[in-house]
Amino acid sequence: MPDHFLPDGLTRTDGTLHIESIPLTQVAQEYGTPCYVYSAAAIRNAYREFVEAFAALDPLICYAVKANGNLSILHLLSQQGSGFDIVSGGELSRVLAAGGSADKVVFSGVGKSAAEMAQALQAGVHCFNVESAAELRRLSQVASHLGLRAPVSLRVNPDVDPGTHPYIATGLKESKFGVAYADAFALYEEAARLPGLDVAGIDCHIGSQITDLAPFVAALEKILDLANRLRNAGIPLRHLDLGGGVGIRYRDETPIVLADYARAIAERLQGSGLRLLLEPGRRIIGNAGLLLTRVEYLKLSSDHRFAIVDAAMNDLIRPSLYEAWHEIVPVSERASPAALLDVVGPVCETGDILGRARSLAVAEGDLLAILSAGAYGASMGSNYNARPRPAEILVDGQSTRLIRRREAVEELYRNEWPPA
Ligand SMILES: *Cc1c(COP(=O)(O)O)cnc(C)c1O
Repeated sequence: MPDHFLPDGLTRTDGTLHIESIPLTQVAQEYGTPCYVYSAAAIRNAYREFVEAFAALDPLICYAVKANGNLSILHLLSQQGSGFDIVSGGELSRVLAAGGSADKVVFSGVGKSAAEMAQALQAGVHCFNVESAAELRRLSQVASHLGLRAPVSLRVNPDVDPGTHPYIATGLKESKFGVAYADAFALYEEAARLPGLDVAGIDCHIGSQITDLAPFVAALEKILDLANRLRNAGIPLRHLDLGGGVGIRYRDETPIVLADYARAIAERLQGSGLRLLLEPGRRIIGNAGLLLTRVEYLKLSSDHRFAIVDAAMNDLIRPSLYEAWHEIVPVSERASPAALLDVVGPVCETGDILGRARSLAVAEGDLLAILSAGAYGASMGSNYNARPRPAEILVDGQSTRLIRRREAVEELYRNEWPPA
């Protein structure tokens, strides 16, 4: 059976799925299952695609750490010149531990604590993306107290519908994110007066897995109009940050062509003097990683047919959380006829489904690759059901490198103790 679609970095050679030049059978043998496996070339290619498409605009590309914050992945991207979009002090620590530079970091998120603000101010981040009036005032206080000025942009909510899953739409006016478009101007006037702030830019992030250019353009036009009005009012901005959200192909989506996106932005940004910032996450790492798992059991009855695998919703929650589709393919092809199977994990939840009604020719002990799992896979993983987090492996040409050790069970309860 031909593979439906293989992301960059994957090939099938002599019936066996390879990541770069490494057969996934070898990865499973060496590191065990379940494990996340990433292609370094695919990550570099996806990053370079942004750099090349947007070359004329010379943007600061701030990879969204929450998509996948593994230190080796952050290091790789930092070496390519990437900056980072963070949503917590923890993510800032990750970026710095990976060798990233703070002056290329933008700090997003609705609930920054005073301690996180101080940490980011002292590290010297490029900008705080502020999401409320209360946060603006607190940030000014924290900065003043430290004798510093915080570079700020307001995350403005342009109220556009990105046409994506409601859980990952963030730019509608009822969303908890950003400040209302109608309130933004007055808030900028206040920001310009506050002593601890340096008004630097404007930003928005309208949602995730967006495959249509129109909502991005609509958001850009609204944000740009506001930036122009601010300049006319004597509050000039230095940058415009359009956030992330560019979608990828999981199944049969037609992703946005980055050159088209770049052209649409360039036409509108021309002459504004604003530097462009982008915060891509999924588009960089989503298709560069897979979850490798082994079939423990086939459970075949007249009512239902299951492949029970050793990965579960705690390792990859997107199918359970968003009914997201991940392509699932056998690592080694079999000649036997395919059957329709639900691919499920061992977790005690009915929702522990990785893929429904998949046509697969598999036997117990076979390896399956759950594709396009690089973004919001490992980073959203949990220890539910006392399941240790899987190992993560980075493949780079001929080499494989363990970039996260499989968790040991004792690590799960090392911060707990029974009564003496
Ligand atoms: C999640 C997030 C991103 C990245 O989104 P992707 O869909 O992965 O590109 C960028 N910016 C902000 C503020 C985010 O919350």
